[in-house]
Amino acid sequence: MRIAMYPGSFDPVTRGHLDIIKRSARMFDKLIVAVLINSAKTPLFSVEERVALLKECCKEIPNVEVRSFNGLTVNFAQANHASVMVRGLRAVTDFEDEIQLAHTNHALLPGIETVFLATSLEWSFLSSTIVREAAHYGQDVSKFVTPNVEAALQAKREEGRV
Ligand code: ADP
Repeated sequence: MRIAMYPGSFDPVTRGHLDIIKRSARMFDKLIVAVLINSAKTPLFSVEERVALLKECCKEIPNVEVRSFNGLTVNFAQANHASVMVRGLRAVTDFEDEIQLAHTNHALLPGIETVFLATSLEWSFLSSTIVREAAHYGQDVSKFVTPNVEAALQAKREEGRV
């Protein structure tokens, strides 16, 4: 059984992330979407909120599991028998960080391979940061995120958190 892991902050999940999830779920027997707890960034959504939003978005894809994790990504991968790490590449600007991460992970755990998926052109400009910014200014984000994420952003806006 080929198990892949798609790690990230997903703060919040965007249609760009979902495109990568759908495409990689077709390539592997099981895909674990792993939400990083110990991010250096201060997240807008708590890890529980990020996991819940992702679960709702992925409920119709049977081989996708959403989990959160702490610590080193490779340790989580090993504990869950994942041999492949999936990452999305938007533009050359992503490449430098991503190649460094891939080499580090491979050095830490030689059994792990990183697979890069080129993002769909449609979402190549999109990031969680852009979505948070647009929500902050009260812009319509329905093009970028699913309705449950849009509602969650609206709730944060009403709380004055976005
Ligand atoms: P991180 O903080 O680890 O970069 P993100 O949640 O921002 O976490 O991204 C997780 C993964 O999803 C990364 O591989 C990133 O390149 C990819 N990704 C981010 N935005 C998009 C997008 N619009 N389309 C496709 N992939 C994306």
